[in-house]
Amino acid sequence: SLHFTPPDTGLTKDAGDTSDKEAIVEFRGVWKRFGELDVLKDINLSVRRGEVVVIIGPSGAGKSTLCRTINRLETIDKGSILVDGKPQPIEGKELYEFRAGIGMVFQSFNLFSHKSILENVTLAPRKIRGRDKASAQADAYRLLDMVGIRSKANSMPAQLSGGQRQRAAIARALAMDPKVILFDEPTSALDPESTQEVLATMQQLARQGTTMIVVTHEMSFAKSCADRVVFMADGAIVETANPETFFSAPESERARSFLASVR
Ligand code: ADP
Ligand code: MG
Repeated sequence: SLHFTPPDTGLTKDAGDTSDKEAIVEFRGVWKRFGELDVLKDINLSVRRGEVVVIIGPSGAGKSTLCRTINRLETIDKGSILVDGKPQPIEGKELYEFRAGIGMVFQSFNLFSHKSILENVTLAPRKIRGRDKASAQADAYRLLDMVGIRSKANSMPAQLSGGQRQRAAIARALAMDPKVILFDEPTSALDPESTQEVLATMQQLARQGTTMIVVTHEMSFAKSCADRVVFMADGAIVETANPETFFSAPESERARSFLASVR
């Protein structure tokens, strides 16, 4: 079975400079308000191709909202978000196709419960990309194999463990060859063993150069897989650093107290 093992320091993914690569997601002065509450306050963040950015912070910090603005599941009030260098489409078919090009893995409710795992993975490539059944299925089997659940292709989601369901959700996201995959607390509803399976799959994606934005409380994942850690609190990015710096010497008092609370 899959097990997530944080690599030795010598094997840690190079957290070096990716600034020469193009931005896949770029926030420029983004503000978002719910009623009286500023949920995102002047967010500036650039995620480059192949980068793994891990977002951490206390509950209510705005992490999920930040993720949801990227594919326009939430609109913004001020600023702009560029994806792959382009403004987000506003509506209609363009928005629908744009969303399909951004992978999203949530805490739960990721799969269509009345469709088999294979159908879940092939649905969007067939409906949105017009892929023929045979080639979409060939791709799906390859991806299910990669995430370790090929034998579950004809099962229904309810027949899978939580970890297997999340890995199916990852395969479904990958089937659309996404520019970026957003993970919003993908393991927080899982038991420890399932958590390790999903983290191992995410680690594999990170090593393959997948562009990933990951909201998680799994500090081991952040330490070993993040190129950068973004610490959010009260709607703002308080601190951005490479994981070594962030976990050994966080700059802000807010980050220090957060880290003390999760350790
Ligand atoms: P996090 O994911 O970091 O826990 P969220 O992005 O879910 O934070 O929420 C940030 C803040 O925005 C919270 O105070 C939350 O209550 C509020 N919020 C989130 N979604 C909505 C909504 N649809 N309507 C009103 N307030 C919301
Ligand atoms: Mg959240």
